[in-house]
Amino acid sequence: MNAETIPHWLEKRVELTPERVAIHTQENSITFRELRKQSMCMVGKLASLGVKKGSHVAIYANNSLDFVRFVHAISYIGAVAVFLNTRLTQKEIRFQLEDAKCELVIYEQNLSPIIEPLGQEMPIRVHSFKDVSKQLEAPFKAQQEVRLDDIYTILYTSGTTGNPKGVMLTYGNHWWSAVSSALNLGLSEEDQWLATLPLFHVGGLSLLFKNVIYGMPITLLTSFDEQEIHKAIMEKGVTIVSVVSVMLKRLLSQLDAGETYPTSFRCMLLGGGPAPKPLLEEAASKHVPVIQTYGMTETSSQIVTLSAQDALRKIGSAGKPLFPAQLNIINDQQNTKDQSIGEIVVKGPMVTSGYYKRPETNEYTIKDEWLYTGDLGYVDDEGFLYVVDRRKDLIISGGENIYPAEIEEVLAGLDSIKEVGVIGQEDDRWGEVPVAFVVFHEGVSLSTEEILSYCARSLAKYKIPKMIYFEDHLPRNASNKLLRRDLAKWLKQRGEME
Ligand code: ATP
Ligand code: MG
Repeated sequence: MNAETIPHWLEKRVELTPERVAIHTQENSITFRELRKQSMCMVGKLASLGVKKGSHVAIYANNSLDFVRFVHAISYIGAVAVFLNTRLTQKEIRFQLEDAKCELVIYEQNLSPIIEPLGQEMPIRVHSFKDVSKQLEAPFKAQQEVRLDDIYTILYTSGTTGNPKGVMLTYGNHWWSAVSSALNLGLSEEDQWLATLPLFHVGGLSLLFKNVIYGMPITLLTSFDEQEIHKAIMEKGVTIVSVVSVMLKRLLSQLDAGETYPTSFRCMLLGGGPAPKPLLEEAASKHVPVIQTYGMTETSSQIVTLSAQDALRKIGSAGKPLFPAQLNIINDQQNTKDQSIGEIVVKGPMVTSGYYKRPETNEYTIKDEWLYTGDLGYVDDEGFLYVVDRRKDLIISGGENIYPAEIEEVLAGLDSIKEVGVIGQEDDRWGEVPVAFVVFHEGVSLSTEEILSYCARSLAKYKIPKMIYFEDHLPRNASNKLLRRDLAKWLKQRGEME
């Protein structure tokens, strides 16, 4: 991005539509003018705590209005916001605070048992929102413009394939992300987007920028509550909700037989991870307008998305690259021409310029502005992307490629199975063979033979797991994503015990 400057987006929004509702919470609603006033008040209080242009300030909190005010206050100051997942362990938080060189952490009061001890052990100051509110406001000349190539946020990847990495995103990245999404989904005067994804992830955070840039009200929920969301869709005029697949599953179960969402509800934007086909089909049968999207922290959320008119025809696809974005599939260092599977690489103004303090990783992840995602996929003859799996998790068995996600999807089709994870196990004859880890729903179970004979109906012989391990839970990270690398550790421990 070159050094272009635009008006600060909340300033501009207040100039355009000051009295429009910005945010509905469970308790009340505030207009854009009020949002600006409250954010400015936070600016003065953060300034009195020494926050200035370029300061790295972490936020450790669940969704709340304080969170939103903080995000805008940071941009008025020109500081850099670092977001901590509230489900991280203390050790993980310490790592991220050190790694991102944070000077200060602002936290939600009831998370103090985790964060306060860190304030004593580390050279870092910690202040609760309550402390902040008690500060006297210091005079501060708030930024009236933002430079598109200034770093605004550092968000950590989920740490599914390795240690989380701090992704630097600029104002320009967030700006283009919001604009590109609107060019795909369109904008309507009636739109109201429900924010239930955590704001500390890019999928949730990006809604705060859409809110201000579009002038579109958002309904902010503190956490995921399927009944609350169902009610918001049925009765409160919500038109778009962003979800991950576990949430969608729980929302679908709220719909009674024959019940449908109001026609004004136009998009259930589904992303964050693989979307099992049976789930997409269930949604389609209930007339829920699911639109699949693919993206990651590095792409400021969406970069490839289906459009409403293709959603049913291309079920299972993540869609096409957003207007200013491009997509390639790389196989043996070449662009594939023939729909074969390869690494997904993407380019566009919403793509990060790099990870914080990781020059080596940046060198092999971003080449000529193309981001190598580490995900595998293919593009069909009409240009639609299908995401297959993570490159690191590919199993090669007797020269055949096996994608664990395909086997997991088949096994997840069994009603008794609650969770499943598939990885490769070393094998003298085949190099590697797939094995599955399975968790049953309470009170039900199946034998290995039953599971294998079910697999034989949908999977080629070499893809059928050679072993099924029964577990009571599977390893997941703070974003609730399956950690296949930990399953590999479990396998190793079993091997050592035998
Ligand atoms: P890390 O990069 O630390 O290993 P992570 O990749 O899980 O963690 P995120 O940025 O939260 O961190 O997640 C982005 C990833 O989620 C994508 O790279 C992809 O693997 C997966 N993903 C996102 N959308 C989809 C989708 N529609 N289908 C399949 N996978 C998806
Ligand atoms: Mg990743």
